[in-house]
This record gives sequence, C-alpha cells and structure tokens, in this order.
Amino acid sequence: MNPKTKLPLVGDTIFSEMSALAQQLNAINLGQGFPDYQPDSELLNAVCQAIQQGPNQYAPMTGVPVLRQAIRDKIIAHQGYSYDADTDITVTSGATEALTSSILALIHPGDEVILIDPSYDLYAPVVTLANGAPVRVAMNPPTKDRPRFHLDWNAIADAVTPKTRMLILNFPHNPSGLTLREEDLDALEQISANHDFLILSDEAYEHIVFDGQPHVSPTSRPALASRCVLVSSFAKTLHATGWKIGYCCAPGPLSQEIRKVHQFSVFSVNTPIQAGIASYLKTNHAIQGLSAFYQRKRDRLVQGLSASKLRPLHSEGTFFLLVDTSALGHGLEKDLAIRLTQEAGVATIPVSAFYADPASRNANHQLLRLCFAKQDTTLDAAIEKLVSL
Ligand code: PMP
Ligand code: GLN
Repeated sequence: MNPKTKLPLVGDTIFSEMSALAQQLNAINLGQGFPDYQPDSELLNAVCQAIQQGPNQYAPMTGVPVLRQAIRDKIIAHQGYSYDADTDITVTSGATEALTSSILALIHPGDEVILIDPSYDLYAPVVTLANGAPVRVAMNPPTKDRPRFHLDWNAIADAVTPKTRMLILNFPHNPSGLTLREEDLDALEQISANHDFLILSDEAYEHIVFDGQPHVSPTSRPALASRCVLVSSFAKTLHATGWKIGYCCAPGPLSQEIRKVHQFSVFSVNTPIQAGIASYLKTNHAIQGLSAFYQRKRDRLVQGLSASKLRPLHSEGTFFLLVDTSALGHGLEKDLAIRLTQEAGVATIPVSAFYADPASRNANHQLLRLCFAKQDTTLDAAIEKLVSL
C-alpha cells in the first residue's frame, strides 16, 4: 500500500550516510559528531549504581525530580535564569525529542518558523510535520576578507511577518562554531519587542565555548526568556551521545503544551541514567573544564592542518571546525566529502547538507565540517592523511 509520505524530501541524514561510508571504507570518522572515548568513569559508576540499586521503573513523565533540580541549578549558575523545576523543566529523549515535541506542540498549520541557514537538519522537516512553513534566512557566508559566517539581523527582521510564530536559534552553532554576543541579543530584543513570536533556542553545545568567551543565551535576558524554549542535552556535555538524555525548559504554560506531546511520544525517558547523571552532577564539576578540554583539541587540529591544503576557519564553540577546501578545486561539497573518505580515508560532513537544497549554488561554499571530539591519536592520524592530500 502507498504510505503517502508526509516528508517526500527526507532520506537518511547526512550523519548516518557519512558514518556508514566511513565504516564501509574503514576511514577515520570526523563526520558525525560523537566522541571516540568513554565518558568519565565516575559518571559510569553513578549510572551503574543506579541500574543495580534502582530506580529501574518508569520515571515521572516530566523527569526524575533530582535531575530536574540539578538542571535548574545548572541553568542558574550558567545562564542566570531561574526555572521552576516542577512546572518549567522536562527531561526528554535527547535534544532531538525536546526540539520535536516543542515544535509539534507550539506550531499550528500556516505558522511561519524562521530558520537560520546553515541549520541543523531536524528543524525544517519537523516544522513541515506540524504543517508550519519553514522560512529560511541565510547567514552571510565566509569571504576572503571576512572568513567566517555571520548573522544578518536585518535579513532576520525582514523575514518576520504577522504569521511568524517561532524563530529557531542554535548557538554555539552547528556547523559553523559561531557563538552569540550581547549585541546579538540587543538586536533580537529589538526585533521581538514589536512582534509576538517564540524563540526556540537549541543550546546543545552550551558548555563548549572557547577563548574565554562566555556562553550567551537568550534566556539571560528576562524579556527574551519569557518567550523562549531552551533546549539542551547531556550528550556533548557528558561525552555520552548514546544515552539520549536532554531537556527542555520554558515558562509553565508553554511547558504544559510541550509535555502533552512528550507524554504521548515517549511518556518518560531512561530512569537510572537520569538518576546517575543527577548524582554525578551533585559532586562533580567536570563541566567547568569542558571548554578548555575541547579548545586543546581544536588547537591541535588547526595546528596540524596548517601544513595541509585545507584552510581552517575560526571555531568559537562546539566541537566542530570548518575547513575551506578551495585549494582542492571547486564542486559540490558532498562529492568532495565522499572523495576524501574514499581517497584520503577521512570522513567529514559537507556544510551544504545544512541548507534546503544541498546541491544548489547558495549551499556550496567549499566548506567541510570536521568533528574534533576525538582522541589525540585519532586527530593526529587524520591530520597525517589530510596533510598528504
Ligand atoms: N541540536 C544540535 C544542534 C545538534 O548538533 C544535535 C546533535 N548532537 C542535537 C540537537 C541532538 O541532540 P541529542 O543527541 O541530544 O538528541
Ligand atoms: N548532532 C550530530 C552532528 O551534528 C549528529 C546527530 C545525529 O546523527 N542525528 O553531527
């Protein structure tokens, strides 16, 4: 029977595709973003203890209370906003489910949702599932004189219409590594003062910001926090992408709607892992060293690539580095990513995959994304292969 697809343009994600190719060709995988090392053994012990001693039955639908409390405390310490752990915080199956539940709960047919390209692959298809209309606004791409992506707040302001229901932000930004500045929040406050839209702020990389910069979140401004849904995840923060524990924070009335979708898509998520994370966060302060840990890896990769034909762009946060590949010729980024996997034995992600039409001219800026959440030996081996290109 014809299933009558709701998402005709969606296939396997670029992350699955490049990981499968890396595995098939036995290439070093700097594509999909995940560490090739274990989480902290203290965290593993806390989770094992929770599995052995319980709780092992259904968690409350909104999340294990001690974890919601720990998330509240963490946000007060880092972003400054005080959420109510009972009414405003929901533990989800990764940031993925937090984003999907939020969009499905809050977007109505015909609502416009502004996405900033390059944008994470989940946003547009889920807006489509909610019968909303994705409105894509491109960041200005890197140029010779200004070799970094940058936000165009005028273009974002121009995209706002009476139908705009939501703006999706993602800083620190995947894939560009861009972070927000206070001036960005000034611009956002100005635009939102005259319009009634929500902000969905995907802060999955909130604890990975380099060179002494702070993480700037819209929730640090009360006027923005009141209309913001903050989404994050423990995947990157605790080096455990496979655990799929994330969270979603929003003022009570918004959370109430999001929880209706969460309740009937997963009901609740893994209980002992939630308990283990909560107990680890109580005594361990590893999050504070996370930026320095990744900054060393970023610098190692940048330094190593200086002998190659790839020109690294500056990464301000996340565990991703973009490289300009112009010296290898001009063509579709995806073709080059496949060729590099086959010929150099290193898998990467084409930045064009973060645009509506990855084959279009506007999506191809000769950029590949490299993940540096890897052991130094893995990074060194990849550097050696890339230098020999
Ligand atoms: N948002 C962004 C920007 C991401 O890069 C990712 C993937 N790590 C996610 C959301 C999904 O996070 P999770 O693995 O916690 O579902
Ligand atoms: N967020 C990860 C990345 O950008 C991928 C997660 C996934 O494979 N869905 O690489």
